[in-house]
Amino acid sequence: MTEQKATNVHWHDGEISREARCELMGQKGATLWFTGLSGSGKSTIAVALEHTLHQHGKLSYRLDGDNNRLGINKNLGFSAEDRTENIRRIGEISKLFVDSAVFALSSFISPYREDRNKVRELHDESGYNFIEVYVDCPLAEAEKRDPKGLYKKARAGEIKNFTGIDDPYEAPENPEIHLRTDQMTVEEEVSTIINYLKERGFLKDI
Ligand code: ADP
Repeated sequence: MTEQKATNVHWHDGEISREARCELMGQKGATLWFTGLSGSGKSTIAVALEHTLHQHGKLSYRLDGDNNRLGINKNLGFSAEDRTENIRRIGEISKLFVDSAVFALSSFISPYREDRNKVRELHDESGYNFIEVYVDCPLAEAEKRDPKGLYKKARAGEIKNFTGIDDPYEAPENPEIHLRTDQMTVEEEVSTIINYLKERGFLKDI
């Protein structure tokens, strides 16, 4: 992916391991990577999931497309190259949360399969869990919802490179979790994710 520019830099280990942090928190952090069309429900589900986890005393942190584009990624646009770099940076940030035992709830359209797979690889290399959540909603339904009025603008030609309109969306082939948001309620979506986390030992005592 991106070349290492600086030389003579080395990882410096601390004295508290990730396992010790996970033990302290009573949870095993992981990245939940929400991918799907604009308006498919990524942010809505992440917000509801964060709320449920919080009620159970479990810590998660949302990383969201627009929020990050206003900060760390403010120098990036929507060309294929910038989208790739956007996702790479978010992938690295997600890893820091996982290392700290927190659940990173990363909601990004992330339309390119290769970019998502690279983030998965970044996690695999470090032994971190990457849980791809496909937030699946037909374009017609997402466009009907149009919560931010973006499809309307894209159809009017006011926004270029809009995923689903004049830019592609490559659906995940093997997501860990597949949510059909045109057929499920938000509550059902959240409990599907919570059950997944419980069954696989990411959450203790809930
Ligand atoms: P995204 O983050 O994918 O761009 P948002 O979460 O911002 O999408 O918007 C999704 C819209 O769809 C919200 O207005 C939400 O209330 C609505 N919605 C309707 N049904 C669902 C569902 N089952 N799951 C998630 N969102 C839903």
